[in-house]
Amino acid sequence: MKDILKNNNRYFSIFSDLPLILIIFLTLYSVDTQSQNLVDRIVIDAGHGGKDPGASGKHSREKDIVLSIALKTGKLINENLKDVNVIYTRKTDVFIPLNTRAKIANNSKADLFISIHCNSNTSSQPKGSETYVMGMHKSKANLEVAMLENSAILLEDDYKINYEGFDPSSTENHIIFNFFQNSFQSQNLDLATTVQSQFKRNTAVRDRGVKSAGFWVLYKTTMPGILIELGFLSNPIDEAYLLSKKGQNQMAKAIYNAIKDYKTKHDALELQKLSKTTDRTLNTNINSKKNEKVSFRVQFLSLATEKKLTGKKYNKLPNIKTYFHKGMYRYTSGDTHNYNEIINLQTKIRKAGFKDAFVIALYNGQRISIAKGRKLSGQ
Ligand SMILES: [Zn+2]
Repeated sequence: MKDILKNNNRYFSIFSDLPLILIIFLTLYSVDTQSQNLVDRIVIDAGHGGKDPGASGKHSREKDIVLSIALKTGKLINENLKDVNVIYTRKTDVFIPLNTRAKIANNSKADLFISIHCNSNTSSQPKGSETYVMGMHKSKANLEVAMLENSAILLEDDYKINYEGFDPSSTENHIIFNFFQNSFQSQNLDLATTVQSQFKRNTAVRDRGVKSAGFWVLYKTTMPGILIELGFLSNPIDEAYLLSKKGQNQMAKAIYNAIKDYKTKHDALELQKLSKTTDRTLNTNINSKKNEKVSFRVQFLSLATEKKLTGKKYNKLPNIKTYFHKGMYRYTSGDTHNYNEIINLQTKIRKAGFKDAFVIALYNGQRISIAKGRKLSGQ
């Protein structure tokens, strides 16, 4: 009987624990699903290409320098951040329309968009790096950078149709960007600031800071994104550095470091949010599970020593179990969370000849009062 009871208990505990097992499984499953919020898809956008050379220096073209640094950055990500998938808008010297670049990023459901460019000026004096976020330009110089980058649109045949009538050579047209509400602005600024501080610490280019202006490619992408101006090809010092292998490696490493820092910080926050949600879910489930741990049974016999119950009258009693309470082995029939159900069973058991049978309540195997059992189980 002892063995049978033990087996019975195990059998029932497996089934009574099923909801908890399911809850844990579903919670873990949902954590896994939500992990898609982590930064694991990054678009590296090398500006210009093909018939669009971008800015030109004395010895260099923007499209070549940015492609080289974009590929080096992507390589560092692939080698060091194994959970990240790098998507390039171009890996060769080809012309890619600005809208297509945004489409590539949006269709791949990327978590970050990094556009890499080089600056240029009519004067050879300006030098240094700038990182842009989408937004209102605060100076004419910032507007001019955006207009120069947006002018790639003019190389497309049907730009008037494809770009919603936007004319990249019109300053008035750039006013549309002033009304743009960017839901990722804090992430954009965080990443842009990290990039610039990396440039300042680990490269030879001057840090010109984080700026904002209306770049079409940032306007059309639907994830956090920045546009990096590595340096001025119109400045001989910047140009020589950006053309050198050392300079390109340092710039790529700095961008990679910034991405890694951003990802580490962002992912930690996401996981923290998730674990808070998970804790809350688990706590709620444990509380509701506690309530389910209240069980009502009908006690019909108490014995000083545990023994196998034989006799026809016991055969009629469903689900016989024992529990030890105040020095006695208590024999019960039925085991339910439902109070009304146990009252009905009590009536049947009394009619079957156990006139003194009575309902008891147990909480995690410990005897509690009926009132407490009903309160805990909300009945
Ligand atoms: Zn450019």
